[in-house]
Amino acid sequence: MKEFNLPLFMKVKPDALKELKDNLDLYFPDILGKRVLILTTDGLLQKLEKKVTLMLSQLKEYEVVTVESSSYDYAVSIAKKISMEGIRMIIGFGGGTALDTAKYAAFVANVPYIAIPTALSNDGVCSPVSVLFSKGNRTHSFTSKTPDGLLIDTDIILKSPRLLLEAGVGDIISNYTALYDWELDCKYNHGQPNDFAYMLSERALNALLYSDIKSFTSQEGVKMLAQSLVLGGLAMQIAGSSRPCSGSDHLFCHALDELFDHGLPHGIVVGIGTIGAAWLQKREYRMLLDFLKAYGIDINPKRRGITEVMFVKAWLFAREVRKERYTVLNNMEMMPRRMREDMFKELYAMMCRI
Ligand SMILES: [Zn+2]
Repeated sequence: MKEFNLPLFMKVKPDALKELKDNLDLYFPDILGKRVLILTTDGLLQKLEKKVTLMLSQLKEYEVVTVESSSYDYAVSIAKKISMEGIRMIIGFGGGTALDTAKYAAFVANVPYIAIPTALSNDGVCSPVSVLFSKGNRTHSFTSKTPDGLLIDTDIILKSPRLLLEAGVGDIISNYTALYDWELDCKYNHGQPNDFAYMLSERALNALLYSDIKSFTSQEGVKMLAQSLVLGGLAMQIAGSSRPCSGSDHLFCHALDELFDHGLPHGIVVGIGTIGAAWLQKREYRMLLDFLKAYGIDINPKRRGITEVMFVKAWLFAREVRKERYTVLNNMEMMPRRMREDMFKELYAMMCRI
């Protein structure tokens, strides 16, 4: 039977950071008083000074390191530091860069990892994957570990930039098209999606889509977003791949990342990719648009700075990004390039009217 590693604790509440010591004492008594490494992002220590003071006051022996880059080599150098210096635990305090680096370093050095996100911009917060730069501008998803503990302080998240919260929502709606692509893949390869992973991913989507809260700028809204992102991460762990949360929607995003310096957060591009993917899948997407409108999230590609040329090139290239993954894009392979170009231009025009 397959075994899964769930976090030992997960607190999503105002002032959750206050509970760090209690949870460490309860779940990691052998680490009490031992050396802990805190990996964080430049500027956060000043920006969240009060919270940082609160966190450090609960630890005995610690070292704070500001992450230098989100590269594979840097994450491995942190793992080496942990092993060489007898560090017993790593805490990631920050956004994706700090968390993915801390997660991978903990995985390599085989020490517990506690995640304290300061933003909720994607479903990597509780996934067993670290996205790191491997060669130059190219990122790669490395097998990593889920956090052993998760503290989501909603006061901190509410202070994070709105764009990052919008990105978090965008990353969740892609579950809609990712699940459909996963089913297509299974049909093509005579497999079957994992039922529990499928259910968790669907629940993560529906909890947000059909909630009455319709705001992520309140304590309740942040809590709901956090829970959906965590459920998505667990779905990926159970499936043993990112398939429950990543389909042609994400292939569009990866293609755009590879081809252009666009500066948009992952979840925003994924949100745009999701509407495109739903259109290509010939499925209902009106409820996604209504939902995004209710949350005030703009996924008009033109207004987000994506030109028609960028949009069409990314969709044409998307199929090449992960060739082993069967998605709705495979159904268009026989179509002449000219026709595909026209189809993506039509999609762009439609999305620019949103
Ligand atoms: Zn994603």
